[in-house]
Amino acid sequence: MSLVDLPLLPLGKGRDLDAERGVECPGDLPAASDPGLVARARAAKEALGERVFVLGHHYQRDEVIQFADVTGDSFKLARDAAARPDAEFIVFCGVHFMAESADILTSPSQQVVLPDLAAGCSMADMARLRQVEDAWDAMADAGIQDAVVPVTYMNSSADIKAFCGRNGGVVCTSSNAEVALEWAFEQKAHLEGGAKVLFLPDQHLGRNTAVLQMGIALEEGVVWDPLQPGGGLSAEEVRDARMILWKGHCSVHGRFSEDVVDELRAQHPGINILVHPECKHEVVLKADLVGSTEFIIKTIEAAEPGTVWAIGTELNLVKRLADAHPDKTIVFLDRNVCYCSTMNRIDLPHLVWALENLVAGTVVNQVTVDPETEADALVALQRMLDLPGKSHRD
Ligand code: SF4
Repeated sequence: MSLVDLPLLPLGKGRDLDAERGVECPGDLPAASDPGLVARARAAKEALGERVFVLGHHYQRDEVIQFADVTGDSFKLARDAAARPDAEFIVFCGVHFMAESADILTSPSQQVVLPDLAAGCSMADMARLRQVEDAWDAMADAGIQDAVVPVTYMNSSADIKAFCGRNGGVVCTSSNAEVALEWAFEQKAHLEGGAKVLFLPDQHLGRNTAVLQMGIALEEGVVWDPLQPGGGLSAEEVRDARMILWKGHCSVHGRFSEDVVDELRAQHPGINILVHPECKHEVVLKADLVGSTEFIIKTIEAAEPGTVWAIGTELNLVKRLADAHPDKTIVFLDRNVCYCSTMNRIDLPHLVWALENLVAGTVVNQVTVDPETEADALVALQRMLDLPGKSHRD
């Protein structure tokens, strides 16, 4: 499936059929109430054997994770898939940009399947290629484009990664964002006035990394709003900025708030607040520890029995950590239930449907990236792999 530039429509204002991609699953989707779903998934996996490799993102439901051959974050999973060239089918239980990354990093003979094509990512959808190209042109008009290095988070569409590849930029994960930013600033360090970074699409990861890890002043960052002419910024504001943060965020991590941190600290003296860097800057400032999903998992594994933790990341992962560590008290850093709704579209009926179709010789919901986009995206991904030091996981 190729992705076109899909406009975001305000709720209730029109309808874009192209944007409602993949909501229909051809053939019969098993009923969620079917008591035989677990047995059917097991049988289909056994029938496919080594021909299929099922990837499960940390934020997936337990009912799906139980069938994953490997679990992890998006970049680890894409690399795991690339390390299994014998697997004809990669069934990615994650979201669309992850399946695209897997398609880019695996061989042309491997086919990547996303059990429900409507499993997108609201953050990735906040940066459309046309919007980013418009911003890039506006930066040329403002006379600063030559000083700007685009850096995109792994959580972006393949065409945004390709844009970065074409324009001297790089991909980063939440683990290596600091190293990627250092690299980006070095690329234009020779220019009078130094380099600027256009950070896509998550303003929070960009801000948290720049301010907390690199010591860049909060005021040296501006937010580029793609829905406003000129990003909603004056030419002077853009010229004076070092970090141009795209106005995007994760709808899950953006929910965590400082007042819940205060509330939990009052309720549980000695509690440790552990959050993902996609959380708002104000929340990260109040946390004890901040890091990627892999960091969160390792921190809890290494924690002393009897310790108390509030975790600010997707609820499926927090619940699994709480179940796996009954010797520690683990609570969710939000008053309400807060799953990633798009991740949760991948449920057991969709997994069974995808696997049984593969058994029958039909590849459904294949995600492919066109060769030109793939080549440019690989340039930006390779620059990330060539970065010194830190882990490349998100
Ligand atoms: S948790 Fe956030 S960043 Fe991850 S897939 Fe869901 S919306 Fe996207």
